[in-house]
Amino acid sequence: MMDIDGACLCGAIRYEATIDPTKVRICHCNQCQIQSATAFRIGVLVAREDFRLLSGEPKVYVKTAESGRPRALAFCADCGTALYGTSPTEQTMFSLRLGTARQRRELEPTVQIWATEALPWLSRIASMPRVAGQTGRPAPPPAALPGEARAPDTHHRGDRA
Ligand SMILES: [Zn+2]
Ligand SMILES: [Zn+2]
Repeated sequence: MMDIDGACLCGAIRYEATIDPTKVRICHCNQCQIQSATAFRIGVLVAREDFRLLSGEPKVYVKTAESGRPRALAFCADCGTALYGTSPTEQTMFSLRLGTARQRRELEPTVQIWATEALPWLSRIASMPRVAGQTGRPAPPPAALPGEARAPDTHHRGDRA
């Protein structure tokens, strides 16, 4: 098990969680593509007792999942960052959105669910040209694996969209 922590983009909502880092998964479903506004979502299931909201109060949107069951999607009402999904009633398990985790570079997914809905170009992304920032300079090789030396995190620098 591994302790992680994270926050939404504006910082109003912060959390801590204890997760199994071998259970990180990618979800390619159409609903995750839309709600995350990107190609896929990275998440992990965490029990309620292993998830702690430290500050802020997420807004909740209840969707109807492909199964027909309602699903509560929690996000920051100020900055729009998706935080987790859970049952609107029991709330025993949370599907934590790991793009918000400070340790996200160490959390490598081990399975892809709803793979039939994956965007078709994803399998070719490794051969796509890589540039640093938005400048067009060649980028260094892909990020190192956990335990290897890596470049400092420059995530919060600059004016990227
Ligand atoms: Zn926020
Ligand atoms: Zn999904």
